[in-house]
Amino acid sequence: METRLDALFDPDRVCVVGATEREGSVGRAVTHNMLDSFAGETVPVNPNTETVFGERAYPDVASVPGKIDLAVVVVPVAVAVDVVRQAGEAGIGHVVVVTAGFGETGSEGARRERELREVAREYDLALVGPNSLGVLSTGSGLNATFGPDMALPGDVSFMSQSGAFVTAVLDWANDRGLGFRDVVSLGNKAVLDERDFVEAWGSDPDTSVVLGYLEGITDGRAFVDTAREVTAETPVVVVKSGRTEAGAHAAASHTGTIAGSEAAYEAGLEQAGVLRAETVEELFDTAEALAGQPLPGGESVAVVTNAGGPGVMATDAVGDSGLSLASFTDETLDRFREVLPEAANVYNPVDVIGDAPVERFGAAIEAALADPNVDSLAVIACPVAVLTFEELADEVVAKAAEAGKPVAVCLMGGDSTREATRILNEAGVPAYFDPARAVRSLDALREYAAVRAREYESPTTFDVDREAAREVLQEAADRGETRLGVEAMGLLSAYGIPTPAGEVVTSPHEALEAAEEIEGDVVMKIVSPDILHKSDIGGVRVGVPNREVYDAYEDLVTRARNYQPDATLLGVQVQELLDLSAGVETIVGANRDPQFGPLVLFGLGGVFVEVLEDTTVRVAPISEREATEMLDDIRAAPLLRGARGRDPVDEGAVVETLQRLSQLVTDFPAILELDVNPLVVTPEGACAVDVRLTIDPEEL
Ligand code: ADP
Ligand code: MG
Repeated sequence: METRLDALFDPDRVCVVGATEREGSVGRAVTHNMLDSFAGETVPVNPNTETVFGERAYPDVASVPGKIDLAVVVVPVAVAVDVVRQAGEAGIGHVVVVTAGFGETGSEGARRERELREVAREYDLALVGPNSLGVLSTGSGLNATFGPDMALPGDVSFMSQSGAFVTAVLDWANDRGLGFRDVVSLGNKAVLDERDFVEAWGSDPDTSVVLGYLEGITDGRAFVDTAREVTAETPVVVVKSGRTEAGAHAAASHTGTIAGSEAAYEAGLEQAGVLRAETVEELFDTAEALAGQPLPGGESVAVVTNAGGPGVMATDAVGDSGLSLASFTDETLDRFREVLPEAANVYNPVDVIGDAPVERFGAAIEAALADPNVDSLAVIACPVAVLTFEELADEVVAKAAEAGKPVAVCLMGGDSTREATRILNEAGVPAYFDPARAVRSLDALREYAAVRAREYESPTTFDVDREAAREVLQEAADRGETRLGVEAMGLLSAYGIPTPAGEVVTSPHEALEAAEEIEGDVVMKIVSPDILHKSDIGGVRVGVPNREVYDAYEDLVTRARNYQPDATLLGVQVQELLDLSAGVETIVGANRDPQFGPLVLFGLGGVFVEVLEDTTVRVAPISEREATEMLDDIRAAPLLRGARGRDPVDEGAVVETLQRLSQLVTDFPAILELDVNPLVVTPEGACAVDVRLTIDPEEL
């Protein structure tokens, strides 16, 4: 399928604006790289010279005869925007702006970047950068970068928000013989960003894995939607830096991105099916495994080793991963007993013992791979006199190909591993020193297999009373309030989220009337936009009998007055008393992330929420599957499922509440933050007992 970015990576004619022979200049490096490797025609543009490296130079893009597909801009920043405009006027559709001095340098630069974006929009330019190291593609030999190296050919495409990182990775990958299809230094992402490249590479038959080094995501929600479609076919793996607060700050000053909150990234990437690597090493380990190995059918892994210790290390790593140790069938155990000596361990991890020659090792590998309970295999070998790593490598390659199951190998040695590693890598089998890395790679394959198995599900749209919800928000806005409490319970009921019977009253007399409407004792709460945590000031009375309602009203108001004499008091809420003994107090909530938009939160609630921090987040709107996964995510999940002889709670009610809340915050951008704490869940259902929210009246 033809995409808008094809001509960026595979142009026929490219002009380098700012081409020069001047020693030490970026323009020289780009021109040199282009002339060195590009299969098409490279046209230098420079008003001050007749030729560059023997090629005829033109004074400006307008004077270049014929069609140009791509302009690479390496001119001084003062004229960069003009040059891009000229490229647009000349009908050039693709531009790479290498020139720096834009958004990354302060307000003048930011203004220039806005101008650049305007020009790109006017001429509908697919523009990379500015402040980009450039773009390269091994298919066409395009090397429009000022880095020292061209990449080796391969089927991994890589984008990086840091240019320096591109040169470092190329140097490192060339050393290891790792190849690339396309490489892009994203620069300031004034026009094209990570989403455009994920999309383009997703439909490129010659890209089998997409890798990214990202410091921020420009439009998180849109990225999730695009990446979700791509990852159904092509794996995407990302290192997102700026995870810690300090890291996030460095990233913001680096390329001018405001890093979104860590939880939002984690959720968004997970929902998009994007795998996340913790380190650069893991990024490329994962890429290698995905590019070379089949996907496993499940999470069971077998370990076959000739040494006990490394087998234990692998087992520990399995424990830290989403994999589990396979338990072999009786047939497999019999087969092991047949081919292994008495002293060998036939249970997982299988120890073939240090004196195993290649035949014995190979027989064990074959038996493990043949077991229907085994989805993937880690082979771990230490150097021993009776075995060479090369013969083991040949054996693994043959057996793995036969079985069609993913295999990762650990060759625990130095120089002696080199040739064997080459044999394995050539066959697409990853090889490492450290067992933990092998396990992590197999785990990434499992993770991606799970992504592939996902069925896309669009969020359910419930029948709700949107108008009633708007009225609740509008009334608060009309009162000039931006913080709402239990007086806004109607917002939840309008969206079908169950709430206890109750009302807000403004006199002791009304309180008693309200209490008499409700069977049994009641709960009474102070209602004030100025009091965030009602129980902290004694503003919640649980289990008030009717005869005490009158006094309780006076008492609550007095407490509020003592706490803050000028607090706005909207009254007292009289609410049905719920039996908490059979239920669990959970929290459901929402807030807004600058990059990802509305997020939905779920966790253990009540007074434990801050102490235990047992919560999980998703980018809204969420599907039923995503809501269900939120329940699985929290550590307290067993509590909901009936730990210690309790009845399991109504999980369906929680899942539905989460989805309804997701719909509410998606429908109303005016809701900046919202907490339902607690949402009491029992075997019979879910009930929102308390609510608190912050609104932006401008958005109503
Ligand atoms: P706040 O969070 O402002 O202190 P809440 O309305 O959440 O006020 O009430 C605090 C606690 O009181 C809840 O976590 C819950 O344990 C209890 N509670 C509140 N309302 C009820 C109710 N209707 N039935 C039973 N317990 C309640
Ligand atoms: Mg509360």
